[in-house]
Amino acid sequence: MNTVYIGLGANLNDPTAQLHRAVDALNTLANSQLNAVSKFYASKPMGPQDQPDYVNAVARLETSLAPEALLDALQKIELEQGRQRKDERWGARTLDLDILLFANEIINTPRLVVPHYGLCQREFVVYPLLELEPELTLPDGRTLQSISKDVALNNLIPLN
Ligand code: ATP
Ligand code: MG
Ligand code: MG
Repeated sequence: MNTVYIGLGANLNDPTAQLHRAVDALNTLANSQLNAVSKFYASKPMGPQDQPDYVNAVARLETSLAPEALLDALQKIELEQGRQRKDERWGARTLDLDILLFANEIINTPRLVVPHYGLCQREFVVYPLLELEPELTLPDGRTLQSISKDVALNNLIPLN
């Protein structure tokens, strides 16, 4: 089994309900066990600003799925929750599930880059992850705590 961290985000059709539904789906994921979910956080959109605020969280699971099989499963959940892929980058969506970390692996394939390339810049990833794992070290040896010092909160607000 490998420990993986998933970033969850939504800003359409009752984002908090979307995240609860996604957590339920992660709970029933094959060959996997969901064992922690951060608080839900309200956050400001990246990119286009003419879209609603987001709700974000980070989940930790143990899985025996291979990385691309996990990505397939996550994309299936996104589609089941009405995700429509549009041309606009970082546009509004009902659900986004990103693989932030997969064990201590560094993955660079056409479909999958892990650690997620935005992990160290995005407050809505760094702080929920820090809540779950205050002592986390990335595959390159840097600690999440040291990374967080350079990431502004930018109106990130815990909701629960
Ligand atoms: P961003 O990647 O900047 O957060 P996004 O999450 O909105 O943007 P998506 O449309 O969800 O982007 O995904 C685009 C593609 O990113 C997917 O088809 C997937 O193959 C690829 N991808 C690469 N690395 C990852 C990862 N670590 N987790 C999820 N998807 C990834
Ligand atoms: Mg994303
Ligand atoms: Mg994504």
